[in-house]
Amino acid sequence: MTKAAIGEAICGGAAPTLAIDNLRKAFGALVATDSVTLEIRPGELHALIGPNGAGKSTLISQICGEVRPDSGSIRFNGRDMTRLKPHLRARLGLGRTFQITQLCQDFTTLENVLLSIETGAGRSSGMLSNPRRNVGLVAQARERLTEVGLGEQAGRRVATLGHGERRLLEIAVALARRPKLLLLDEPMAGLGPEESAAMTRLLAALKGQYAILLVEHDMGAVFALADRISVLVYGRRIFTGTVEEIRTHPEVRAAYLGAEPTC
Ligand code: ADP
Ligand code: MG
Repeated sequence: MTKAAIGEAICGGAAPTLAIDNLRKAFGALVATDSVTLEIRPGELHALIGPNGAGKSTLISQICGEVRPDSGSIRFNGRDMTRLKPHLRARLGLGRTFQITQLCQDFTTLENVLLSIETGAGRSSGMLSNPRRNVGLVAQARERLTEVGLGEQAGRRVATLGHGERRLLEIAVALARRPKLLLLDEPMAGLGPEESAAMTRLLAALKGQYAILLVEHDMGAVFALADRISVLVYGRRIFTGTVEEIRTHPEVRAAYLGAEPTC
């Protein structure tokens, strides 16, 4: 078997954007991620589901470099980045949103996106005091806001935004750094039906442009959006498959789909 054929057999034709191998992280006696192996293909929307406490956020934190794994490896576009600092991973093209919002509340939506562009490029945030110096960057920031449907809200302070608008802004902030892989940790948590529908439409529009790892409890959205779904239970990945395979898999149904998620 040639090297290319082996690669095709492993990841369905293209080298994976992200390859996690045997990633383990324990907090004392609690094993939060238990030898997790997972691949995200270029342009794939890969959903990660599992009950609360399954280790989904811990996995994302390890991919971003905020939590150091006990063992295992993380490769991003072929490069081993298991020991790389978070800001360097971001510079390589990892973008993320958080389960708890990290926006600057007193800044406008536009300023939040500008800040992300600047810090992503490794510069200080001096332009916020003199945006005219950076007309091109302001135009870029406005584009990101428009991309997520907040084009009309450029001058609004974050503190005045609704919950759904903040979630959209978080995605604009992540997109501002031109990521190759987006890690989204429960972007629909706490949203009403209309806001969830808006978020689902946005993710459908982003799908294919970026590889996306989506942690989400809203199974309607997951089933509508995902190319593949991985199921994490007690830190272990018990299955990866297509929507149809997940729906009909007995162990997955018993472990997860049978029980109502709690948030
Ligand atoms: P999920 O995102 O799937 O709900 P988490 O990754 O947040 O799960 O948590 C997995 C498990 O690890 C939980 O039992 C949680 O309490 C524990 N945990 C997460 N972070 C820490 C930490 N920093 N210290 C100790 N325990 C943690
Ligand atoms: Mg979580």
